[in-house]
Amino acid sequence: MTHKLYYDSAYTREWTARISQTAQREDGIYVLLDETAFYPEGGGQPGDTGWIGEARVLDTIGENGDVMHQVDRLPGETGEEVSCEIDWERRFDHMQQHSGQHLLSATALELLEAPTLSFHLGQDHATIDVDRSEWTDIELEKLEYEVNARIFRSLPIASYTVSPEEASRLPLVKAPSVRGDVRIVEIEGIEYNACGGTHVRSTGELGLVKLLRSEKQKGLLRITFKTGFRALREFGEQSKVLNALSSRLSTPKEELPARIDKWAAEDRKRQSELNELQGLLDQHTASELIQQAETSGGPVAKLFGDRMLKDLQQLASSLIGRTKKPVVLASVPERKLLLAHGGESGFSCGSVLKEKLAEFGGKGGGGDKSAQAAFGSEDELLDFYAMLTDRFSGGEERS
Ligand SMILES: [Zn+2]
Repeated sequence: MTHKLYYDSAYTREWTARISQTAQREDGIYVLLDETAFYPEGGGQPGDTGWIGEARVLDTIGENGDVMHQVDRLPGETGEEVSCEIDWERRFDHMQQHSGQHLLSATALELLEAPTLSFHLGQDHATIDVDRSEWTDIELEKLEYEVNARIFRSLPIASYTVSPEEASRLPLVKAPSVRGDVRIVEIEGIEYNACGGTHVRSTGELGLVKLLRSEKQKGLLRITFKTGFRALREFGEQSKVLNALSSRLSTPKEELPARIDKWAAEDRKRQSELNELQGLLDQHTASELIQQAETSGGPVAKLFGDRMLKDLQQLASSLIGRTKKPVVLASVPERKLLLAHGGESGFSCGSVLKEKLAEFGGKGGGGDKSAQAAFGSEDELLDFYAMLTDRFSGGEERS
């Protein structure tokens, strides 16, 4: 069985080991060492990465008491001695998140009287699911404050192995899931936890635990948090965004929410003024289009180079109230067209479109009084528009 150096000390970063076995499997090359400090994925903590000789360690997994290293190439032959190194920045980050989780969960159990039911350590943030369906912001603020107060007291965190009998005498948070000897992670004066993960040696090494979000997830309270360097980076990123907003809007960051509310109110007012003006413009356009149609004897029709179909629907509804002729309006930027009438033209708009659309590469449909079509290209739209207006020129349409 592999000798697990990470149980002697979580701080072993470099060592020399002998290759005891290599294996080519479907998903890659694996190496077994006589001793290793690479932590295999487990207990919510991801497997380590790093280097064995010249080979990159892509992942580490546990297998029947052994530790298998997935590598990008063979680092040497069986029996050969190789130098090993953990990607320490990544591993120390995992230690901070994992110990941070123990401290956060222990403090939540005390303050919220709610046990943690699961822990997830992701690449960006970590989450715990706490057995609570209701909570307040003040409770979570107190929780965050107490966790950090415990960090600033630099409480020792000890990891050691005990016999099952000794374990049964400890006030463990949760009964151990393994048979035989149990690994204990103890935060002095806070808790005894049966856990096989790697941990920092003092709460002081966590630096900071920041709660970022709380939400209800399957009836539980899910807390998203960051510990240590992750919390520091998060603070840096948030500051960058806030400073950029503050400088672009020439507003102190405390006043940004009020400033944005004011803008939103102004924007709503402008939008309603714009709608009113658009209504007036539509009436004017409608009069003009009806006049032209009466002069030419064709339908009420126009191609718009700068308007969207949504606006044209409004125009169409004011037109059909004022004319009995078919209305054909098209939006060139959207390559869409609408056909409508007031119900006295004696044909179904939907059927008229359907009948010819495929021939012109368009899609669409609708009811008797209005229908819409969309085209893949501008040319298709223009050809269809020309065909349709031509068809309605010089007489009533019957179908
Ligand atoms: Zn743990």
